[in-house]
Amino acid sequence: MTTSNLQVFDIKRFSTHDGHGIRTTVFFKGCPLRCKWCQNPEGLLPKRQVLYMENKCIHCLSCVHTCQKHGVRFLKDKILLDRNALEDWDKIIDACPTRALQFDSSSYSVSELIQEIKKDESFFRYGGGVTISGGEPFLQPEGLLSLLSACKEEGIHTAIETSLYVDQEWIQKALPTLDQIYADCKVFDSTKHKEWTGVDNSKILENIRYLLTSDKKDQVIIRTPLIPTMTATQENIGQIAAFLSSIYPQTHYEILNYNPLAKSKYAYLDMDYCFEENPKLYSPEVMESFYRVAKENGIQNLIIE
Ligand code: SF4
Repeated sequence: MTTSNLQVFDIKRFSTHDGHGIRTTVFFKGCPLRCKWCQNPEGLLPKRQVLYMENKCIHCLSCVHTCQKHGVRFLKDKILLDRNALEDWDKIIDACPTRALQFDSSSYSVSELIQEIKKDESFFRYGGGVTISGGEPFLQPEGLLSLLSACKEEGIHTAIETSLYVDQEWIQKALPTLDQIYADCKVFDSTKHKEWTGVDNSKILENIRYLLTSDKKDQVIIRTPLIPTMTATQENIGQIAAFLSSIYPQTHYEILNYNPLAKSKYAYLDMDYCFEENPKLYSPEVMESFYRVAKENGIQNLIIE
């Protein structure tokens, strides 16, 4: 078992959307993509960051008085952070009485994570297990492989949620220890993919082809999140569906409705969200039109929740 530590920004228990049964989902920190709509902006950077929750702040100014290098200032009735300042952030966070300031992640050894996961093992007997999500789990590849092996030694069902923006050798190494693989295919057009996610999609498409021709192809679920004006076009869904069905017509494909909840997290990190006015969920009629396009382009196993 590796002694290297894993940076984790959340452990969500009793999840029912990230694999079979009731899941414990472990979110690895760090992602090579920069999707404009990212639902977990706290998972983007590999290193830990400071979160500031204005709604919990009582303006006691303990943080301002504790800081040494102007990392926290009080200006025009607002607490302002310079997260790059070389401060003793542990000390500043300890000084906050309301936990308005917090680190966004923690470091765990594989053994510590297994202990956390095993707290829920009574649920795993009924078809659940652990799901590794992120960020991008493969950005911490050696720790990921060790954690997956340790889960299998404990008889725990394993799933992963990945962007597939990873060298194929790591997928090959992980595959024997994975029971379910959720992978995104966000945008088929390579120019638009680069514009909206920050990276080229050729590596992702190659890895999808690899998975859908592997002996685990029936355990793979390809997903497209619907993002208004970006991924949510009939043309994009049609192109993705045609690509998947040309490789394996029985591909399990899921089209995810837009999630309007992500916006609130951006304020905690002083980041801008891609929509000034948050769009709403798509109606069942609009979802049906996307399902129709996927089926018309050869998808036989459409997942509809
Ligand atoms: S210490 Fe916490 S509660 Fe007090 S001003 Fe700073 S962030 Fe707000």
